Amino acid sequence: MHLSGVLLPDGEQRDLWVRDGRITFEPVPRAETVSRGGFVLPGLVDAHCHVGIARGGGHVADLADAREQALVERDAGVLLLRDCGSPVDTRALDDDPDLPRILRAGRHVARERRYIPGLAVEVEPTSLADEVRTQARRGDGWVKLVGDWIDRGAGDLGPLWPDDALADAIAAAHAEGARVTAHTFGTDALPGLIRAGIDCIEHGTGLTEELLGEMAARGTAVVPTLVNVENFPGFAEAGEKKFPAYASTMRRLYASSGAVVRAAFEAGVPVFAGTDAGGGIDHGTIAEEIRALHAAGLPREAALAAGSWAARTWLGLPGLVEGAPADLVVYDRDPRADLDALAAPSLTLLRGRVVTPSR
Ligand SMILES: [Zn+2]
Repeated sequence: MHLSGVLLPDGEQRDLWVRDGRITFEPVPRAETVSRGGFVLPGLVDAHCHVGIARGGGHVADLADAREQALVERDAGVLLLRDCGSPVDTRALDDDPDLPRILRAGRHVARERRYIPGLAVEVEPTSLADEVRTQARRGDGWVKLVGDWIDRGAGDLGPLWPDDALADAIAAAHAEGARVTAHTFGTDALPGLIRAGIDCIEHGTGLTEELLGEMAARGTAVVPTLVNVENFPGFAEAGEKKFPAYASTMRRLYASSGAVVRAAFEAGVPVFAGTDAGGGIDHGTIAEEIRALHAAGLPREAALAAGSWAARTWLGLPGLVEGAPADLVVYDRDPRADLDALAAPSLTLLRGRVVTPSR
């Protein structure tokens, strides 16, 4: 196969060929030209989604439903997913060449009554490191902790874990060769997680200037999931009657969420695009998240990087380089000039094969 176009992020007009599922810049004789004149990006990345959580919560009925979720992502140009916790073992999907690549974090690790029912493995702090080791072996290089959640006794968000348990657990994951990330909405859980050497923070709406400075120095990333943060006013309303303090916290976090993302970017914290699809969010909304990151203050190209080449590098996959897997998306218009161009790829190659939309 042969393509020509403007390759991102370099921005140069080039020819590229696909041979044995991989990109090459050496001409392949008699190659068929499948695209000419577009803008070629490394496949998009949804750095926070869930394959296997049903719409509305709980787990999907069967693997066919999980497969459908991955296909919806693929149709949106997402060729690499970081699954941030699934109650279902979706590993069988790896054998399906039509599906995007999935990097898993195993199951969420939480405490009893401190997360959405039925999703997490629930343990006490004394068992956290052991469970993290188990999930590190179950996943593809990531472990997912629930860092804070509503504490019904206190009536507000609160940390799940004492600092020493976090330090042991994160060290245990690192010893297994896995990185760790954590769900946090509020601020109080963050110092313990960041100082324990966590690799990434999900949502991170409670991040402060001081904590962002510490993350930048350590190289700790954030995946703001702004598409999901749009639900905060709804969460506040649902909790208002029983937990007024929680409701006001969620409204305050919502109000400052864009400023936090801009401050993270300006502080030099790596920011990546993730939708939190699964449960309450539809799959296939990565373009919306990239636009939201730009609206929060990331330059257009940085927002694109956050959902494409920079996210791939962070997750250990190459971009459009010699020998890389041919996972790429082509757009007719330049997404650096207009992010609306991301609405639909004109061509998608996954593992070097032309992908036809599943619907
Ligand atoms: Zn999530």
